[in-house]
Amino acid sequence: MPLSPEISAPPASPGPTVAQSFSEAFGSDPAGVWSAPGRVNLIGEHTDYNAGLCLPIALPQRTYVAAAPRADRLLRLCSLQSGQRYELNLEDVRVGNPTGWGGYAAGVLWALQVAGHEVRGLDVMVNGQVPFGSGLSSSAALEGAVGAAASDLMGLDLLGDDMARAALAAICVNAENTIAGAPTGGMDQSAALRCQVGHALLLDCRDGTIAQIPFDLSAVGLVLLVMDTRAEHANVDGQYAQRRASCQEAAEQLGVASLREVGFNDLHETLDRLSDEKTRARATHVVTEIERVRETVALLRAGRLADVGALFNASHASMRDDFEISCAELDIAVEAATAHGALGARMTGGGFGGSAIALVPTDRTAEVSSAVRHAFAAKGFDAPDCFAVTAGGPARRDS
Ligand code: ADP
Ligand code: MG
Repeated sequence: MPLSPEISAPPASPGPTVAQSFSEAFGSDPAGVWSAPGRVNLIGEHTDYNAGLCLPIALPQRTYVAAAPRADRLLRLCSLQSGQRYELNLEDVRVGNPTGWGGYAAGVLWALQVAGHEVRGLDVMVNGQVPFGSGLSSSAALEGAVGAAASDLMGLDLLGDDMARAALAAICVNAENTIAGAPTGGMDQSAALRCQVGHALLLDCRDGTIAQIPFDLSAVGLVLLVMDTRAEHANVDGQYAQRRASCQEAAEQLGVASLREVGFNDLHETLDRLSDEKTRARATHVVTEIERVRETVALLRAGRLADVGALFNASHASMRDDFEISCAELDIAVEAATAHGALGARMTGGGFGGSAIALVPTDRTAEVSSAVRHAFAAKGFDAPDCFAVTAGGPARRDS
């Protein structure tokens, strides 16, 4: 689907490469290859930890792992994207150990044990297509792929029905929160494990229930363009945690379990009960964003896909002005895209960098990507990477 030279082509499957690299690194063949996708969230940002709604799709970009079980309790971890290799015992995996990328992978094995599963050692080679820190959730793709491999190789049956997959998603969340130390909310892991091809995943983070919402833009002459600003975000740093704390503070002041309990229609009178302007602004984002997810789903179900653009724009304004998690690169990408034919655009993911998305008529895609590149060049920013995506499938065994 290369739409123009401005747009990156979708990735080819690196299945054989990762198996080959495994054999070279460990001197024997892997037992199989598993993969899990990155994701973009269509709408519903910073709502997951507020027990709200979000609407991710799985990306065509996936993280592949070749793996083989071991008779002992050793974990050996390699990645083609990192020079850092790990060799450690399962017993040595704990809060803050190992540091670096190994925490995401080893954390999954640790969290499987915590959930009561019998786990043994594993040799793992990783090859990922999801760019790191671009807001496209390479971390959950890695966790999902390792979790899928461990599930199959240790007979845990966590890839069967959606209930099993939801359990594995929760295990991956625990791995990322506890061992890697990133306080992410759960959307990413649910997307990696529970999304379906051609559908967006409506995830209700209050009770973990989902609905598959048909999402086929090509049928109506539209494209979802990802604009990776290459401005690196870092979830592990304080900003994400601060926003989370503000939301919790707002809920406590209101005497509710989470901001999900605040009705959209009651928003104004509710805000009066909050102590300061900043907390009011944070709560406003969360409550209005949850409502925008509902509106987006209604439009998608009614086949009014083009109308979702206006909600993208409103969502971006809310994140820029009320939640204050945007940055210059994201704002420029959104402005350039909408000025050159996008029906709507918004930053996606945790914020402070990473990626934005735009809803674009297919015949305007080259123009939009070109405009974004030029706007970045004019500001002296590194060139962004623009690519069209369709809704991909969840974690699976590949071979
Ligand atoms: P995002 O999930 O948005 O890409 P995060 O900061 O949550 O950003 O996760 C990125 C981290 O995940 C990387 O810094 C690295 O530690 C780990 N990671 C993801 N994919 C891989 C991979 N293919 N190989 C090694 N580490 C990876
Ligand atoms: Mg992540």
